[in-house]
Amino acid sequence: MTPATLYTICWIWMAVGIATFLLLQFVTAPYGRHAKSGWGPQISNKAGWIIMEAPSFLVILYFFLTSDQSTFASMLSILWLLHYFNRTFIFPFRIRTKGKQMPVIIVASAIFFNLINAGLNGYFLAHFESYSNSSFTEWTFFLGILLFLGGFIINQISDHKLIHLRKPSETGYKIPKGFLFKYISCPNLFGELIQWSGFAMMAWNLPALTFLVWTCANLIPRATKHHSWYKSHFSEYPTNRKALIPWLF
Ligand code: NDP
Repeated sequence: MTPATLYTICWIWMAVGIATFLLLQFVTAPYGRHAKSGWGPQISNKAGWIIMEAPSFLVILYFFLTSDQSTFASMLSILWLLHYFNRTFIFPFRIRTKGKQMPVIIVASAIFFNLINAGLNGYFLAHFESYSNSSFTEWTFFLGILLFLGGFIINQISDHKLIHLRKPSETGYKIPKGFLFKYISCPNLFGELIQWSGFAMMAWNLPALTFLVWTCANLIPRATKHHSWYKSHFSEYPTNRKALIPWLF
C-alpha cells in the first residue's frame, strides 16, 4: 500500500466516523445501562469486552513485533498496547456485571471498528513513520504525553470508582460522587478522550487523528446518553453536573 492509499482510506474512514456520530444522536448503543432486547443474540458482558477489544491489542502487537520501528514509533505502539492491555485483559475481569449480557452485533461492530483503527495506525507505524529522536524534543510530544498520561489516570480512577459503587453481587446503579464526578457524569469517558487527543498530538499523523475522530464519535453521544439516563433515573441528581466537559457540556 502507498501512503496516498492509506491516507485516502483514512479520510473515507473519518467521514464514516462523522456519519456514525450523527447516527448515534438517534440510536443508543444497547449495552451497560442502555441494554435492551430486540438487538438479536446476546453474549456475556465480560466475554464481549474481551472479544471486541482484543483485535485492537493484537493488531498493534503484530505490527510492533514484525517491523523495525524507530524509538518514537515504538513508544507510541507501547502506549497503545498499555491502554488496550488494560481494556482487554484487566477491565473485563474487574467489572461487576454479574449475569449481564451485550448484543453480538455490538461486539461485531466494535471488532470491525477496532480492526480498521488499529490496522491504519499499526500499518502507518510499521511502514510510513519517519520519526527521529528529535521528535522527543517537539512541543507536540511534551503536551501529548502529558495529555495521554493525565487522561489515562483520569480514566482509571473514574472506572475504578464506578466499578466499586457496587458490591460484587449487585447489579443496580447509584449516583457516583467525588473526584471529577463533582463536575461531570462521565469522567471515565472524558479521560479517554483526553488520552487519545494526547496520542494524536504526539503521533501527529492522519491515522491517529482518524482514531481520535472515531473516539469522539463513540464517546460524546455515549456521555450525553449516560447523563440523560442519570437525570431521568435519579430525581436528586445534582443539577450543576455536566455530561462530559466540566462547566461547559
Ligand atoms: P460506564 O461508565 O457505563 O460503565 C463502567 C462500569 O461501571 C460498568 O461496569 C458499569 O456497569 C459500571 N457503572 C457505571 N456507572 C455506574 C453507576 N452509576 N452505578 C453502578 N455501576 C456503574 O462505561 P462504558 O461501559 O460506557 O465504558 C467503559 C470503558 O470503556 C470506559 O473507560 C470508556 O472510556 C471505554 N470506552 C471506550 C470507547 C472508545 O471508543 N474508545 C467506547 C466505549 C467505552 P454496567 O455495565 O452494568 O452499566
